[in-house]
Amino acid sequence: MLGNTIDYDKFGHCIKCHRNLIVEQIIDQKPTKRFLPDYSEKEYILDDGSRMRVAVCKQCKETLTDKDTPYIMKTVIAGWKKELETLHHWTEEKKEKYMDKYGKLKIVKESDGSHNKNLHL
Ligand SMILES: [Zn+2]
Repeated sequence: MLGNTIDYDKFGHCIKCHRNLIVEQIIDQKPTKRFLPDYSEKEYILDDGSRMRVAVCKQCKETLTDKDTPYIMKTVIAGWKKELETLHHWTEEKKEKYMDKYGKLKIVKESDGSHNKNLHL
């Protein structure tokens, strides 16, 4: 993706344009994370039957199509890999097993997550 520095999924960042959708504010002297008004989420069903939720900005959400799902999955898996790199207490073997299991997951379809629209914030 042109002009973007990351191409992996990161908490609070749009899955497609990778814009940061989260801000940290100091409220009552405590750093508090807050989603920007552009923050939205989308839920997918994976081929192992599990559900996966991704952050996406409102603009990208409107234009997401089935064609985007391979990119989304690739990005999410890249994000998992990045996360694994930070788990220094995990052995290399454990990390490999994890990626063996989760690195092959595919998006089957969009989940109709409309029933839990107001879950967050
Ligand atoms: Zn976006």
